[in-house]
Amino acid sequence: MSTSNSHFEGRMLVISGPSGCGKSTLCKRLLEDDRVQFSVSATTRPKRTGELDGREYLFLDKEQFRARVSAGDFIEWAEVHGNLYGTLRVPLEEALAAGKIYLIEIDVQGALQLKALGVDGLYVFISPPSAEALRERLEGRATDPQDVIERRLKKAADEMLEAYRYDATIINDDLEKAFRELRELVGLDSGARCAEGE
Ligand code: ADP
Ligand code: 5GP
Repeated sequence: MSTSNSHFEGRMLVISGPSGCGKSTLCKRLLEDDRVQFSVSATTRPKRTGELDGREYLFLDKEQFRARVSAGDFIEWAEVHGNLYGTLRVPLEEALAAGKIYLIEIDVQGALQLKALGVDGLYVFISPPSAEALRERLEGRATDPQDVIERRLKKAADEMLEAYRYDATIINDDLEKAFRELRELVGLDSGARCAEGE
């Protein structure tokens, strides 16, 4: 057990869970703390309106992405919904050396890949309170057509079965409560307890 915040400094925090569980919402809140740094992944998917190269993602074409795979620049990469995504090695190493909490928001496949590679970090699964709530959120977010929502819900049912592989699960029912739990788990609040796995 630790009562100091310093315990988690210079560690990687992996936030994962099914699409629509609230990962982005929780990560955005977490990033208001300047001890936390966001991992900008590389991707080959087209830039969406409002996105900036180097902020949400580093946007590469397939050839550039493949070249960086060959150069060993990624700690992991995967194809998700037909596009390539990867976590870059150098920014991770620099952030950890600077004592930051390096926040990786990633799908379940990517998180488990990182874990299987033995990449050290705290792996947190964000769970929706129920399948119905997940459906409501995906429909309420209104970013995807109905067939994509159905696909995501089907995938979510499988992803929920992987929760036990993580260091901790946070049920995102009440957003404020989930956020408090996450901050406490990570050790961002005074009197924080030691992150699991320490
Ligand atoms: P993800 O990044 O996991 O795909 P989002 O953060 O985009 O999920 O959340 C999906 C939708 O659910 C968004 O519209 C978001 O505002 C909403 N949402 C997130 N957390 C909660 C919550 N605790 N209660 C109700 N709605 C939520
Ligand atoms: P989006 O294109 O909607 O931003 O993200 C699509 C999916 O790609 C999400 O599930 C997201 O978690 C995943 N993703 C984003 N970055 C990475 C990454 O670096 N590696 C892997 N494996 N998946 C990622």
